[in-house]
Amino acid sequence: MPEALHRLQQLDAAHHIHPFNDNAELAKKGTRILTRGEGCYVWDKEGNKLLDAFAGLWCVNIGYGRKSMGQVAAHQMDELAYYNTFFQCTTEPAIHLAAKLAEISPADLNHVFYSNSGSEGNDTVLRMVRHFWAVQDQPNKNIVIGRYNGYHGSTVAGASLGGMKGMHAQGGLPIPDIHHIEPPFFFADGGDYSPEEYGLVAARRLEEKILELGPERVAAFIGEPIMGAIGVYIPPMTYWPEIERICRKYDILLCADEVICGYGRTGEWFGAQYFGFTPDIMTTAKGLTSGYIPMGAVLFNERVASVLRQQGGELAHGYTYSGHPVCAAVALENIRILQDEKIVETCKHDTGPYLAERWQALGEHPLVGEVRIAGMVGALELVPNKAERKFFADRGKVGGLCRNIALNNGLILRATYDSMLLSPPLVISRSEIDELFEKTWKSLNETAKALA
Ligand SMILES: *Cc1c(COP(=O)(O)O)cnc(C)c1O
Repeated sequence: MPEALHRLQQLDAAHHIHPFNDNAELAKKGTRILTRGEGCYVWDKEGNKLLDAFAGLWCVNIGYGRKSMGQVAAHQMDELAYYNTFFQCTTEPAIHLAAKLAEISPADLNHVFYSNSGSEGNDTVLRMVRHFWAVQDQPNKNIVIGRYNGYHGSTVAGASLGGMKGMHAQGGLPIPDIHHIEPPFFFADGGDYSPEEYGLVAARRLEEKILELGPERVAAFIGEPIMGAIGVYIPPMTYWPEIERICRKYDILLCADEVICGYGRTGEWFGAQYFGFTPDIMTTAKGLTSGYIPMGAVLFNERVASVLRQQGGELAHGYTYSGHPVCAAVALENIRILQDEKIVETCKHDTGPYLAERWQALGEHPLVGEVRIAGMVGALELVPNKAERKFFADRGKVGGLCRNIALNNGLILRATYDSMLLSPPLVISRSEIDELFEKTWKSLNETAKALA
């Protein structure tokens, strides 16, 4: 091991607490240090070239190494590095980005509130939906319903809206007046239903919960169009339209957490378009800047925005960096690239279908019990017995093993339990998809061998 690498790992172990890690174990093992990225590839300090089939953390939609992103940021820093949007002020990039987001977003989601991340965006959502009803003389209509195993970020509100029990256990969460229903996960929960029937059954859990709590108490429902972190649960196409019908019936705001799905991941600009429903509110981040700089944007429709705008008095909410001009300029450049290079259309009509074909073919492997794919996001469910929709007894072991084997083969996949997760840069080419297929197949073989 080169001395420089070892020294860096020692410093990291001594001073850097890593998110979502067993830090004691990591300190012993040593962190992987990434140094460079180009297109769909990253390089580490040891000189390994890795095909990043996870786009960093679901976010590097336009791929690594785009020079114009840095040029735009440098230019904006030279002109005006920072100004706030609090005191009756704004900046040109913040204005142009708001207008651009209104243009590309579906339906009448034409109003933007800026955050710095997905978690912060969901904090904004929680406060705004409660405020929305409170200023209309319904302060008790303050409950938000999310889903068990949903992921909405890691701040107090984000983790509370999410339904990860391990996260709730650290820090006394969820905060009051947040409830959860079971998520749609056909593989484990579909029983003898067809996927279409199951989508309706899973959606109607929302109606049961609303009736249990009382519709006059429920402010909003929040969900990821595709549940990412827990394992890329892609609901049947019947699920979201039924959720929308139920929200409309009881006058409950429908919030789509588009932090993964937004900006092209499904081959549509937003996940709501893929599933054919219209939310009142959308949380976005990640693909908004392709991860080149932190930024989030919450989009509100006309109804919600008109209440927030006309409530009378001050909107007591905001972040120092809401609408940061450098971040907004970078987001605009990111969207320009997505549009000018027709990246979303290419995913929908060309590379997405090709990826789906090759990813589906991995389903023939004896270890794979289910293949999930929508546009450029998918999963392989590894199972002990291909004939049954059942998990391994020791959940997570085989997934972790396969992930490590893939890394040794020069491929970054993520594992949640025994789901191997796929979310490559949207610019992945057909030949890179072939490489992805071959490396995944090889890794599955080696995993099966290691188990035998
Ligand atoms: C990543 C993610 C978040 C949190 O975003 P951060 O930028 O990490 O705060 C929220 N919701 C979903 C669906 C996510 O995938």
